[in-house]
Amino acid sequence: MKLLSFRHEGQARLGVVRGGAVVDISELRRLPSHGSLMRSLIADGAQGMQELADALATAKSPEYDLQGLELLPPIPDPERIFCLGMNFEDHSTEMGAERSEAPNLFLKLPSCLTGSGSAIVLPRGSQEVDYEGELAVVIGSRCRNVSAEAAMGHVAGYTAINDVSARDLQFRATQWTAGKICDTFAPMGPYLVTSDELPSIEQLRLVTKLNGEKVQDATLDAMIWSVGPTIAYISEILTLLPGDIIAMGTPAGVGWKRNPPRFLRSGDVIEVSIDGVGTLRNTVEASSTEGGGLPPGLAAHGTA
Ligand code: ZN
Repeated sequence: MKLLSFRHEGQARLGVVRGGAVVDISELRRLPSHGSLMRSLIADGAQGMQELADALATAKSPEYDLQGLELLPPIPDPERIFCLGMNFEDHSTEMGAERSEAPNLFLKLPSCLTGSGSAIVLPRGSQEVDYEGELAVVIGSRCRNVSAEAAMGHVAGYTAINDVSARDLQFRATQWTAGKICDTFAPMGPYLVTSDELPSIEQLRLVTKLNGEKVQDATLDAMIWSVGPTIAYISEILTLLPGDIIAMGTPAGVGWKRNPPRFLRSGDVIEVSIDGVGTLRNTVEASSTEGGGLPPGLAAHGTA
C-alpha cells in the first residue's frame, strides 16, 4: 500500500493511494490517544493493515485528486530521525572521509520535516545549503538487540528523504548538528510504501534532479551499511519504536563537491526519485522576514 498524510480543510488526514486518487481513510481508524493516525496505523502492524484493507473494500470514503493535495510528511510526528553519514563509497570518497568501523550515526529533528510539494527555506545563517537524496526506512515495530535478518521484519516501509545540509554550519565546528537541523531541512515523502510492496530494495535506483538536471544517480546496493545491519546496529544502542525514521545516506554528486560548487538558491526545484517509492519534490525559498511563519515541521508536529 501507498499511505500518505495530507491536510484537508485545515485538518491532518490519513490517505491511501488508489490509482491516481487518494482515499481519505481517517474515519476508518479510531482516533489514537496520542500521536498521528499514521503512527498508530503503523504500530498496529500487519493486523492493522489487514483491517484497513477489509474496511476499504466496503467503505464509502471521500476521494481526492493526488495532484493539488497539500502533502504532509508521511510520518508527520516521528519520535526520532536517525541518519547515516558517508554510507555510499563514492560519496565518502568525494567528501574525503575515511571509512569508519561503524555507521556514522547522527540525528535530525522531527521539526525539520516538511512534505513533498512544500518549500525548503534557506536559513539566514548559511550561504551553502546543499541537497542529499536518500532512502528513508520507517520502523514498524519496537525492536531491541535484533539480528540483521530479523531486523527486516521490523520495517513498516520506505519513503524518500532529502537530508538538506548547510555545509558552512556543518563544518564550522566539529559536530555536524548545526548544519543538519534547520527548519524544513528534512523534506520527506511523497508517501510511505509498505515493505510488502518492496521485498527487495537493493536494485532500486535513486536519482536526484536539480531543476531537471540529474545530479545524483545510484542503486541502493551501493550502500556500505544496508538496511538490516543498520537497524541491528542501532537496536544495540537503544530501543527502536514504530514511526522512527532512518535516513540511509546519500550517494556522490552533492552540490558542495561539484566544480564549481552548486548550492541551493531561491527558485530551485529539487527532486529525489526512488524506483517504486516515488518522487519527493520541493522548491527552495529565501528565509522569510523576522518572526516568519510557523515552520511546517512544527505545525505538522503540533496538529497531526
Ligand atoms: Zn545525509
